[in-house]
Amino acid sequence: MTGGLLGGLRLTIASWKSRMIEIKTPAQLDAMRAAGLVVASALAAVAEAAKAGVSTAELDELAEQTIRDAGAVPSFKGYHGFPASICASVNEQIVHGIPSRGQVLADGDLISVDCGAILDDWHGDSAVTLFVGSVTDAEQALSDATRDAMRAGIAAVTPGARLTDISHAIETSVHASERTHGRQYGIVREYGGHGIGSAMHMDPFLPNYGKPGKGPRLRVGMAIAIEPMLTLGVEETVELEDGWTVVTADGSRAAHWEHTVAVTDDGPWVLTAPE
Ligand code: MG
Ligand code: MG
Repeated sequence: MTGGLLGGLRLTIASWKSRMIEIKTPAQLDAMRAAGLVVASALAAVAEAAKAGVSTAELDELAEQTIRDAGAVPSFKGYHGFPASICASVNEQIVHGIPSRGQVLADGDLISVDCGAILDDWHGDSAVTLFVGSVTDAEQALSDATRDAMRAGIAAVTPGARLTDISHAIETSVHASERTHGRQYGIVREYGGHGIGSAMHMDPFLPNYGKPGKGPRLRVGMAIAIEPMLTLGVEETVELEDGWTVVTADGSRAAHWEHTVAVTDDGPWVLTAPE
């Protein structure tokens, strides 16, 4: 396993077969909601602080403090050796960026922040894309398209649906945004969403593209992290020599949005949404 596991799970679709998907009780989903709220508050604190002149290491410290103040534990820290509590991916970085003192945000930067927390043994996982100061129309459109794709994926989370109905909803939303925005987006294929609950990364792997009607059926009590990643250029990615940071192959900018979502009889429950 490489660092490719943190922000968007990297697995093969073959893993759908023969593996179990964890079913949570209502009380366990309540516990996941509590963990999700911790993640939401950490991301809110980071969003507030992400300004020109601030380093990504400072954002990381703020996230970790917010998580620990809530009595939770940052799930990223130490995960396969990852050294921080958030992934801070700036500009052409897509996911798994390592926070550092040397990376100081400047006006015009785009930063995707991914964060996870464990509270009472249950996990939450969420990511946002933020802008530092000024933002171009293209970057705003990119982030909007990514967030809209996430929301379309969330809306497909209903009992009885098949897993790739979510994938298809994400891809369909991206193409709708392309028509609306008059732009093309690269859908990052090598990383995707994942089951979540008593661990951060569980079965099933969720591609962010593809035909509907495949994969396991969604059942009440499942929880899935839905996390599309889009680029302003190509879909190909490159992992840097630090063994973590994933960048776009063409240097174009990327966006990443993620929520942890539970399957309930009442429809999708977004466990990491702010109150
Ligand atoms: Mg994440
Ligand atoms: Mg995730």
